[in-house]
Order: sequence, then structure tokens, then C-alpha cells
Amino acid sequence: MGKRIDEREWEQATLEALPYEPDDKLRRYAEKLEEIKPHLIIWARESVPDPANWGILNSFGSYAMEEKNHWGAACRCTACGETFTAGYKNKQILMLQMEDGLLLDGWTDGEEPETVSFDVSGNKRETMTCPMCGTEGELIRRSRINGRSLTVQIAELTKIGTTTVILYWLATRWLEKTGYSSVTAAARCATAVSPSGRVIRYGTGTDGKWRKIGRWNDPETMPYCEGGGFYMKSTGAYMFCNVEDMTGTTGEKTAIDTYFKAKDALCASSYLKIWSKNRSIEALVKTGGAAIASDYVRARMRYSYSTDMAGMDLREKKPHRILGVGKVDYRFIVSHAWTLQLVGAFKDYRKIFPKTTAAEFTAWGKQIDPTGIDRFTPFFSDGLGRICSYIEKQKTDAVHYLDYRRMLRSLCEMTERETELTQEEKFPRDLRNAHDRVSDALTAIRIEQKKIGTSKECRTFAEMKKKYAPLEWKNGEYCIVIPESPAELVREGAVLHHCVGGYASQHCRGQMIFFVRHARRPERSWFTLNEDVNGSKVHRIQLHGYGNEYAHGKRLSIPKEVTDFVQAWETDVLAPYLLKNNRRTTA
Ligand SMILES: [Zn+2]
Repeated sequence: MGKRIDEREWEQATLEALPYEPDDKLRRYAEKLEEIKPHLIIWARESVPDPANWGILNSFGSYAMEEKNHWGAACRCTACGETFTAGYKNKQILMLQMEDGLLLDGWTDGEEPETVSFDVSGNKRETMTCPMCGTEGELIRRSRINGRSLTVQIAELTKIGTTTVILYWLATRWLEKTGYSSVTAAARCATAVSPSGRVIRYGTGTDGKWRKIGRWNDPETMPYCEGGGFYMKSTGAYMFCNVEDMTGTTGEKTAIDTYFKAKDALCASSYLKIWSKNRSIEALVKTGGAAIASDYVRARMRYSYSTDMAGMDLREKKPHRILGVGKVDYRFIVSHAWTLQLVGAFKDYRKIFPKTTAAEFTAWGKQIDPTGIDRFTPFFSDGLGRICSYIEKQKTDAVHYLDYRRMLRSLCEMTERETELTQEEKFPRDLRNAHDRVSDALTAIRIEQKKIGTSKECRTFAEMKKKYAPLEWKNGEYCIVIPESPAELVREGAVLHHCVGGYASQHCRGQMIFFVRHARRPERSWFTLNEDVNGSKVHRIQLHGYGNEYAHGKRLSIPKEVTDFVQAWETDVLAPYLLKNNRRTTA
């Protein structure tokens, strides 16, 4: 009981101690962030002096009196703070460009061949190199910037007394006619670690005052936007570690400081939340696995609360056991900055080839596919070593081979092939040839599908399946199935090597296609029956099986059981149906 009261006191004390203003270190950090300090060239239409007249008039000593002005553009660069002038015509800013590419300060009428123009007519972003300092800046009209702001979120790891806290600040820079204001920072929310290791969230309400909040979203995933901001609904945060040493603080055993300093680590508050439930994640971060921990945090936030992500098990204490790999592999994995996804792929591979090391796996990855070895996951069983040497021998690249294998897989799916691929199919002697062959076959099927797959036909197919449902029949070993979609017809045609794929429109007009199949395997193509259901009497058009009964040059006959079955269906099911539904009633 005593402990619980301590915690409540701690919660209250922390609430009272949360700051409303950032300290100097954070302010200096915010001032330097380029994201809220882009280089701009602020321009306005103004009457500007003509530099050509300037010099002459100066020599007369009557500069002010006879200075000749034109309508041009007055510009100011936020990188150097200097001002310069340019010409302006038809929503274009005009400048003279010297041979070395530098722009010349001064008005121009745009008649000279050295003129370059900058389109400032619309919302298109146009940049210009400042003639004074050479910095590239975005051209922006002065009247557009006033009152606008740029905001970023900063997550600051710090301590309040002995409490470890992450403070979230919204740092804003307002744009003014002359350039920028200095940065202002407003406290947004905070995450604190309690003495017993609970993770508590605080937020500022509409009154700006700190309060404890129950709902738990990671501040990095909550969009922030300021009125008049350039960018709306931004997320994420800059991570600023404002604490030298965590010793003696409530977060001492969280490794949050290491997490904060790691490259690409995200969602620090969610990391703490996970730590509060599975403390062994600290071991992972402490031993160089911060990037993997960060992947894990994000995956957990996105998907679920399962403790088994990529086979990672936080009930284990030792970091290599958490990942489910050996010590040597673990050291290799963290020193080579593996992603959690890669760890998952590696472990999948090891289910097939248990002796593979992380070093080997990386070497193959580098050789065949630097963008992600996990794209090869479906083909792991062929062995990455084998795939590597094959690709090398074929003098091709992984993308080409992957493309071939994926097409081959689609082809097998579309034709419902069930037999294993042969070695020659997996590793064809001539990849280029095989690739083209598979590609042609796929294209042919797709064209066929397109030809008959109009959405109107699809609707009709579905309606017919419903309307003629009483005609579906199972008797003994066999059954009659009505196709569901044009695509099913195409598949039937592809599997049985006949032309039923082209019968979609006939089917819709009542010269219906029925599938004759084994009752135990109704999904598998066998025989195709074509019946005219428009009349009041049975009218069979055709009944065919594989290749219209021609296979390998031999004429095959339809088994008697099948013809008997179809006949029985026609007599017992189709005939009564047609008689009942299609007989013309006489007056
Ligand atoms: Zn400049």
C-alpha cells in the first residue's frame, strides 16, 4: 500500500514540476533546425531604381532629383539578409546572368539576351540563387508570408529531479516581412517514468496547463499543425538528448538515452511503454540493437500487442536469445545495422537451411539484391547460394530473375497447375528466352480475360448464377456447377486447353456454360457443358473435356460415366426446369 501512495505523490509532484518554457540548450537546438528556417528570397513589386541611369546621374551630383525608377521587384535574401533588385514583367522576375552563371543585382527590362526569368505566376515553387551570397532560396511573395509559420516537434529527453522525462515541444518560427522571428517553443505533452517503472503521460489542455492523460498515443504519431503553417498535419519529432547521465534517475535501467542517440530510432515514448512491460528490451538497445528495437516498437504500434514480432521474444533476457539467433550471429546483425525485417527473413531461411550464418546471408543479399533479400522469400527453398551463382552465370541481375519467377508463379496460379516446378523451369538454361516465353503466355491469358471481363458481363454472370441455382446438381461422384465470373471461364479454358474462355457473351445470352466436376473436388476443371436454356426443351450444344478430346494427337473419348451423368441431369433437372419456366402460356 505504501508504495502506491508514493507513486501518487510522485505523479502530483511531477505534474507540478513540468516546465512551460524550454531551457536555453533546447532553444539553441531549435534555432539551428533548418526545417523551420528555409532559405527564402522574399520579393515584392516595387518601384526600383534603374542601375544604368544611376551611375550617370551620380556623376552629375543630382542623384535624388533625376533618379529614374521602374516597376520591378525588390528582393530580400533570408540567408544573408541583403536586399537586391530585379526586373518584373508578365509575372516573371527578370535578372541578368553573367557568363559564370551568377545573377546580377539590378533592374532589367528583359530585352537583353543575358536575361533569365523566374516564373512567379502561380503556386509553382521556384528557386533562385541569391546574387549577394550565392545561397539558393525559394522565391516567395512578401504579401504571402506575413503571419505564416513553420513548426516542428522536438522530443527532449531530460530529467526533472530524479524523474526521467521526455518533453515534447512544438517549436515555431513565424515569418515576417523582413524574414524570420526567433523560435518560440510551446510544451505539448510529456512522458515520465515513475519510480516503480510505470510510464505516465501528461499533456497540456486548451488552457495550456499540464494534466495527466489516460489515453495513450505516441506523440510522434499525433499530427501537429499550427494555423497558417506552411505544412499541415506533420508528424514525427527531432530527438534531442538533454541529459548527460541517467544514473540515479527513474529511467536509469531503460536505456532510453542510448535509444535517443541511435540513428533512426523512433517513437521513444512507445519504446518506454514497451519497456515497462518487457524490460529485457533494454538489453537489446544496450548491445547495439537500438535500430532493431525501434523497428520492433513501430511494428508493435502498427499491428498488435503480440510479443512475437519476427520471432522476437522479449520474455528472454539475453539479447541474442530475444532475437532467436546465436551470439556470433547477433554481434554480426547489430554491427551491420540489420532491420527487423531482415532478421525475420534470415530466420525464415534458417528454417530451411539451419546452418546458414548471418554473414553468409548478408553476402548473398549484397550479391543478388541490395534493396531487400526478403523479396526472395518465396524462393528460399531453392537456396540463395544456388540462386546467386545462377544469376551470375546467366550474366543477369536479380530483378530480371525475380521477375521471371514471379511471372512463372502467376502463370501456375492462373492455370491452376499443381505439380512442382522442374529444375529446368526454376533455373532455365537460357533465362532470357524462358522469361519471354512465360511473359507471352501470361499476356495471352490476360488479353483473353480482358476481352470477356467487362463489368456488365460480371454482373450478368452473378445474376445468372443466382437465377439458375436450381440447376446446380450433385449426384453420386459428380456435380454440375454454374460459373461465377468470366474469369472462371477463362481459367477453365486455360486448364482444359479449349476455347470456352471466349464463350462469356453466349453464356450471358442463355447459351449457358456448365462445369461438370468431381463432387469431391468441385473447384477443379474437368468437363465443360454448353446448353441452350432459352427454350422449353433441352438443347445441348456441346460437351467437352481436355483439348476437345484431342491430346497429343490422339482422340480421347468422354467416359461413359460422364455422359450418363450429364444425361441424367438433363432428364431429371434441366428438362423439368425448362418446362416449368420457359413454356409459353397460351391464352
Ligand atoms: Zn543571400
